[in-house]
Amino acid sequence: MSTDSEKTFAAVLTPPARGAIATVAVRGPAAVEWSDRFFTSLSKTPLCQAKAGRILVGNWQASDEDLGEELVVAKLASDYIEIHCHGGVQASRRITRHLESVGCEIGTWQDWTRQKAPDAIVAEAQAALPEAATKQAALHLLDQAQGALSREVVAIIAAIEAANFEIADQQIAQLLQLGPFGLHLTRPWSVVLAGPPNVGKSSLLNKMIGYDRAIVLDMPGTTRDVLHATTALDGWPVQFSDTAGIRQSDDVLEQAGILKAKGALQQADLVLVLHDATNLRPHELDDSLKELPAAVHVVNKIDLATDLALPTSGEMLATSAVTGQGVPELISAIVDHLVPVRPGEGQAIPFTLTLIEVLKQAQQFLQNQQPDAARQRLSDLLSKTSPSPADIA
Ligand code: GDP
Ligand code: ZN
Repeated sequence: MSTDSEKTFAAVLTPPARGAIATVAVRGPAAVEWSDRFFTSLSKTPLCQAKAGRILVGNWQASDEDLGEELVVAKLASDYIEIHCHGGVQASRRITRHLESVGCEIGTWQDWTRQKAPDAIVAEAQAALPEAATKQAALHLLDQAQGALSREVVAIIAAIEAANFEIADQQIAQLLQLGPFGLHLTRPWSVVLAGPPNVGKSSLLNKMIGYDRAIVLDMPGTTRDVLHATTALDGWPVQFSDTAGIRQSDDVLEQAGILKAKGALQQADLVLVLHDATNLRPHELDDSLKELPAAVHVVNKIDLATDLALPTSGEMLATSAVTGQGVPELISAIVDHLVPVRPGEGQAIPFTLTLIEVLKQAQQFLQNQQPDAARQRLSDLLSKTSPSPADIA
């Protein structure tokens, strides 16, 4: 995509989904002239004669056979037109096709944001914003879209240029610490519920998310596939996965479910290992559940246990999926695990794998006494043609 300022460029800004209205934006020296070829306002005012800020209702028509669509055109500046047409993909596609036929360059909404953004990190943040699942995540991305990370990268480059390598190294290390957090601004944290059948995995999931997402049955072995449910815990997007109970089984279908469950354990940011308070047998736990990098052990069905002696070693929480006892504490424990450090308002956060990779490379260059290479890597991040993940592999 060219960034030539002489070019006239159009993009559909709205998603390709069903809705009342779609928006096509056109910017560049020929935006007004080209739109005037197809658009006739009811008042017969051509766009070239309309003042900036004027909104016109009219028809879009490319040929006599064309039905001519009624739409609204806003002239926002002498080189910026916004066309609001019927929703869905057809009307907007017709408009971009017509504009393309007269020489307009057509791009995606991401190209559009990239064009306007002052630097590539800001552009990435703007493109990532729609992926934020919660307000809290969106606010952190908004900080980056407003230049928080760009400013920090500029500061690191300045430190390198001033030969303050140790400071630059520290600044990069601080950013990298927030990498795992940053990646979750666009992708929920993954929490897997695991344990033997019938301990209450599905019931506890339903209790935590507040509605019946998983089928709860009395018969062990009900949850054969991995079920997902995404929710916000304390403002953070979390995807729960309810897995098949892990145990020895001769049932082929159940074995397949167990295999999937074990796969899910590997991908998880946190595993909740459930135990049954009426039948505590931690020593019989499947090997796959014994040595997990991040796990919280939960003893469920405490409402049924009269004199329960909880093992004091390790992290053990007690819940009842029926009465809800212990569930708020469990949710706090989950959030503390997933988000141990919470960046403040306006703080710089790397939020894509590419950003994190390039920061790591810059750090490596600094540690290898190659400050010029480090500086170059960091300025690449800011430049409009930022490296794609493929370039840095
Ligand atoms: P899963 O196989 O681990 O998913 O277990 P389920 O959630 O399907 O629950 C198995 C059975 O235990 C169901 O009859 C639930 O109603 C019951 N159950 C689950 N959690 C609790 C609990 O905390 N207390 C009591 N009393 N029953 C529970
Ligand atoms: Zn279940």
